[in-house]
Amino acid sequence: MSAKKQDLQAPKGMHDILPADQPYWAFLLKKGKTILEEYGFERIDVPMVESTPLFVSSIGEGTDVIEKEIYSFKTKSGEPLALRPEFTAGIVRAYIEHGMHVLPQPIQLWTWGPVFRHDNPQAGRYRQFHQMDLEIFGDDTAAADAQSIFVAYKILESLGLRNLIVKVNSIGDQNCRPQYLKALKDYYRGRDKKLCAKCQVRIKTNILRVLDCEEPECTEINKNAPQFMDYLDTDCKKHFTEVLEFLDEIKVPYLLEPRLVRGLDYYTRTAFEIFIEPKEGEEIFPSALLGGGRYDKLVQFLGGPKAPATGWAMGMERVILVLKKLGIAPPESHPQPKIFIAQLGEIAKRKSLLLFEEFRKTGIVAKATFGRDSMKSQLKISHRLGIKYTLIMGQKEALDGSVILREMDSGVQETVPVEKIVDLIKQKLRK
Ligand code: AMP
Repeated sequence: MSAKKQDLQAPKGMHDILPADQPYWAFLLKKGKTILEEYGFERIDVPMVESTPLFVSSIGEGTDVIEKEIYSFKTKSGEPLALRPEFTAGIVRAYIEHGMHVLPQPIQLWTWGPVFRHDNPQAGRYRQFHQMDLEIFGDDTAAADAQSIFVAYKILESLGLRNLIVKVNSIGDQNCRPQYLKALKDYYRGRDKKLCAKCQVRIKTNILRVLDCEEPECTEINKNAPQFMDYLDTDCKKHFTEVLEFLDEIKVPYLLEPRLVRGLDYYTRTAFEIFIEPKEGEEIFPSALLGGGRYDKLVQFLGGPKAPATGWAMGMERVILVLKKLGIAPPESHPQPKIFIAQLGEIAKRKSLLLFEEFRKTGIVAKATFGRDSMKSQLKISHRLGIKYTLIMGQKEALDGSVILREMDSGVQETVPVEKIVDLIKQKLRK
């Protein structure tokens, strides 16, 4: 069966990361990894699929992610599995499965990789995207929230991003949230018909999400909605105040955002997102680059031990989008080739392969296009790559054990015994 035209396009909302974009990814990963490791975070990798019920119970039935966006399927043996729409559920599963609670706490983990949500694709919103993710288990202090936010902020800053702003809120816990939800219900009663169609449903399934709806009719009504801050109990209020004090101390700029609730059910207390604050007249990227918060009950809720936790996930495509918009170029992640090996004829091709290996062993990056037979086209490539020295091996040179060294700028050529060429190039490069 031959492929149709649409089969030759990546699935909607999913993208290839082409060689030209790889330096951005390498840059982001290198900076992220360095800072995470410096702060004592250890790498974990979890499967790309987990059991569907794991995601449903942790993320929550009434959330957009579970209701509309999850890619779930049954395996041939009838197992319900789903592509991960985020990392936390899988990492919590691993924490429980491997009994990490018996190790000295806190457990500080990080990971990165693709996640999948059947979302409506648009700029900065994809169906397969990548997250860098941090989780801290076994620490209920405000200091852990502040450290998690600080590390996120430092990673973004290390990429050259400026005007970062952390929007932060507390969404209480099981003790004070019911009172707040009741206040919200009372507030929307009588106003619900004026909300957007989605929010008229959300009022019943996930009322908190009405608060961060961006439809104009909803933002207008939400302006006067009751604020969580006024309903936090003493412990939650104390925790939140301490988080803010820590942020002041470590000089992370933040903004209290009473309508920030986050999309997933498992959050308690601290919730935050990081944005770029555009300068006057500037338009960079309006959505969050990164979001996270505390989830003190999730490990226990999923059947594990008592283990308060906090963490975040960064949208890597969004960060790269912003780097490009701001003209922040990553350093070249590929070493530039120093020499080009051009060859003509079968014997020369074989000998050139060995020569290529000689250079590789000495750490000199060489480039060759062994599939090309025309000398002219090989020299053209060498020229285009801006390589200073080209080695030419034809039938004659291959047979008498020599190679022609051509200096590309001047066109000057000399014939060198093949066993001397590596040392000669080394000398020339040293100069
Ligand atoms: P969430 O897991 O929904 O809290 O998202 C964490 C971060 O992932 C967000 O702040 C975004 O930067 C990024 N993100 C979420 N959804 C998408 C998407 N559909 N496409 C690209 N990035 C996303």
